[in-house]
Amino acid sequence: QKFVYFFAAGESEGNAGMKNILGGKGANLAEMTSLGIPVPPGFTISTEICTHFYEEGGKLPDWVRPNVTAAMAKVESKIGKKFGDANDPLLVSVRSGARASMPGMMDTILNLGLNDQTVEGLAKSSNNPRFAWDSYRRFIQMYSDVVMNVNSSLLDVTMEDLKEEKHYKLDTDMTVDDLKLLVKKFKELILQMTGRSFPADPWEQLWGAITAVFHSWNTPRAITYRDLHSIPVSWGTAVNIQSMVFGNMGEDSATGVAFTRNPSTGEKAFYGEFLINAQGEDVVAGIRTPQPITKVAAAASGMLSLEEALPEAYGQLVDIYKKLETHYRDMQDIEFTIERSKLWMLQTRNGKRTAAAALKIACDMIDEKLITEEEAILRLDPQALDQLLHPTLDPKAQKTLLAKGLPASPGGVNGQIVFTSEEAVLWKEQGKKVILVRVETSPEDIAGMIAAQGIFTTRGGMTSHAAVVARGMGKCCVAGCGEVDVDYRTETMKVKGYVLKKGDVITLDGSTGEVYLGEVKTIEPKLDGTFERVMKIADQFRKLKVRTNADTPKDAQTAKNFGAEGIGLCRTEHMFFGADRIDSVREMIIADNKIDREKALAKLLPMQRDDFYQLFKIMDGLPVTIRLLDPPLHEFVPHTDEETKELAVRINTDFERLRSKVKALHEFNPMLGHRGCRLAITYPEIYIMQVRAIAEAACMMMAEGKKLSAPEIMIPLVATDKELEILRAQAEQEVKKVQVEKNIKFEYHIGTMIELPRAALTADAIAEHADFFSFGTNDLTQTTLGLSRDDSGRFLGSYVSQGILAQDPFMSIDQVGVGALVKMGVDFGRRTKPSLKIGVCGEHGGDPDSIEFFHKAGLDYVSCSPFRVPIARLAAARASL
Ligand code: ADP
Ligand code: MG
Ligand code: MG
Repeated sequence: QKFVYFFAAGESEGNAGMKNILGGKGANLAEMTSLGIPVPPGFTISTEICTHFYEEGGKLPDWVRPNVTAAMAKVESKIGKKFGDANDPLLVSVRSGARASMPGMMDTILNLGLNDQTVEGLAKSSNNPRFAWDSYRRFIQMYSDVVMNVNSSLLDVTMEDLKEEKHYKLDTDMTVDDLKLLVKKFKELILQMTGRSFPADPWEQLWGAITAVFHSWNTPRAITYRDLHSIPVSWGTAVNIQSMVFGNMGEDSATGVAFTRNPSTGEKAFYGEFLINAQGEDVVAGIRTPQPITKVAAAASGMLSLEEALPEAYGQLVDIYKKLETHYRDMQDIEFTIERSKLWMLQTRNGKRTAAAALKIACDMIDEKLITEEEAILRLDPQALDQLLHPTLDPKAQKTLLAKGLPASPGGVNGQIVFTSEEAVLWKEQGKKVILVRVETSPEDIAGMIAAQGIFTTRGGMTSHAAVVARGMGKCCVAGCGEVDVDYRTETMKVKGYVLKKGDVITLDGSTGEVYLGEVKTIEPKLDGTFERVMKIADQFRKLKVRTNADTPKDAQTAKNFGAEGIGLCRTEHMFFGADRIDSVREMIIADNKIDREKALAKLLPMQRDDFYQLFKIMDGLPVTIRLLDPPLHEFVPHTDEETKELAVRINTDFERLRSKVKALHEFNPMLGHRGCRLAITYPEIYIMQVRAIAEAACMMMAEGKKLSAPEIMIPLVATDKELEILRAQAEQEVKKVQVEKNIKFEYHIGTMIELPRAALTADAIAEHADFFSFGTNDLTQTTLGLSRDDSGRFLGSYVSQGILAQDPFMSIDQVGVGALVKMGVDFGRRTKPSLKIGVCGEHGGDPDSIEFFHKAGLDYVSCSPFRVPIARLAAARASL
């Protein structure tokens, strides 16, 4: 078996398809040689050796060494120089390179092979002693840092002291004698620090460097990066050993990095930076201010471009970048070095880009016939579209971090903190911008949440009330920020020694979960034609329809603008909290008898009718699914004696009576208590009123000759077919009554949510009484895993970090467990009714991985919050390709 792969013009043993064993860097170096692009010869030690390395307890297996020496001999004969030759030495770089690019996460060493003898040889053969000694001091700096664990700042300080003493500004001001002195001082320091002398033997240097690169796969920063991007530890890194070319040989030499298109805007313009007489990471490290590559870009800054400084090499670079882009058919991020006017390529990879750039590049490449529409869609990350839909914090702004919570709903907002919903509403009316700060939120806080710029909570997870509702509104939210102590009594939030009072300003970054002190500048999102175009392309491919979860005309309109094809979930309870009606809702709840209850409901009827009429009008012929009342009644009543007293006065009833009524509604486990269709089994009047409101609104639409899709009446929390049979009959009876009264006919559908395991398991029987199913995957996840979404935040993190669960099951559906119930529900339901329409309306409806799963499970549509509609459209298209 082969473990070492040679690369040089026309003789490469690898190619771009071999990233798994060669790593991205090695595979692309080999590929470039095959394209006739100048690449310094070298070889790659495969990622499999990384595995062996760790199996042997962090040692390079002895049996690999002969392969390495043989490959080195091949490089020597290619270049015509010998590794360690005192007269004309071959120098190499030792570079890491994993399958997935991990920029700057691991280590690289340049100029390896230098010692007190070979440096003299290099000085003579290059006829450039300054260059030789500059390379030597760089090598010692890098090697001692990476291989010998010497604190690099010690050597840096020594160099800075020398420059200061001599009144130099730049590294390039140092003379040969300065550099010789530095090398001497460096070696003394290293001996002092480590008790070992700096290795002079080039082979000892090489084995040390290879070992260090393999070790760098497991440094804390590499591990953090891998965790962040879900890169498995088993992949390992390859090691590339490559003959050096030198950008530090004088004024005709340079090093640089470039993107074939602008990575932040996507504009089709070559974009990059370089430094004359420099090496390696100098450009990125900010040692000197790098110069722009093209004349156009340089004009603005008054600096000299590569195009002007080294026109010949620039010409080669332009040819090569075009060739690379055409070959890889994607924007490339490239690294190059110019040695005495000759260009060498040292790296190419698909460049990282912002969401805006990704869209623009995709559209341009379709027009250039470089890629197909399918490829364009498959390249785009649906999740990244979120960046485009919300204002974001200005990355250049100065800021003071206070704490970090969960990135519950993206966007960047600032405002004055307030601790109650009432205050949020009041301050908003006074024209102030506020951030609502709560331990957690409940449906009562809706008004405050609407009034606030953003929402901050110290408790609750990604699917806590605050998070779900905020995402639905497209409102920025940081949730579950346990570090912060919120005290309602004193109206303060405390963190890291700061005590913020009501009215103080904070800034939330809902994309990272970060909270900052004071106001941080934000930038507004811009949606351009490319966004629309990509959405249209996606629509051609997708099979799943995309609807929205919307309770208000505003949400419905937003979602429709984003391309929603209907409402998949209208939660009627949110309509109950309006200031004009909440007291009638409460009267209904505390009524002692049916007559009183019906009296209160009669007050609500016209309001609900208008709610539905508005939604029907906005949706203009698109389907609307209305879920009848779902939460336990106790969520609607006041919780403190004070509020109860006030309410008693308002609705003209006795305080004690009201208080005992409220107390009686208390449940130990309301999530599994008297809610959903169970309310209608005991109090049929509630659903009857809601059904009537829907039917009357439909009649109004018909009477006005407006477009109306058959209203979809959805009954929640059904566990048995019997429940649905009873409630369906009741609903049908009421619809028919209205149709007779108004003498107007319209079509309607009655269906149910599948959100309890028993409903999925008996879906065949339930389908007898249902025109449609909608999977309520939030509750289905809670009830399948026996996991409360409001309380699981405390331990779910440990479950994910220990690999017990792959992801938070409230964010991305648990495909194996909850998913099995979904598949079963689809299968059983369609056995009874082959044409049963089936959708999903949980939070998962907006999650790309879950959407792929729902596509495969054969659903007809997903429904998600308005701001996720574009994400779902793209994800649904990708699922069907
Ligand atoms: P990273 O993975 O962090 O980008 P690299 O292995 O690409 O690290 O090395 C960083 C830089 O070092 C390269 O961009 C290049 O400028 C320089 N470099 C690496 N190998 C060589 C070489 N053989 N000759 C000249 N410069 C090199
Ligand atoms: Mg690199
Ligand atoms: Mg539910």
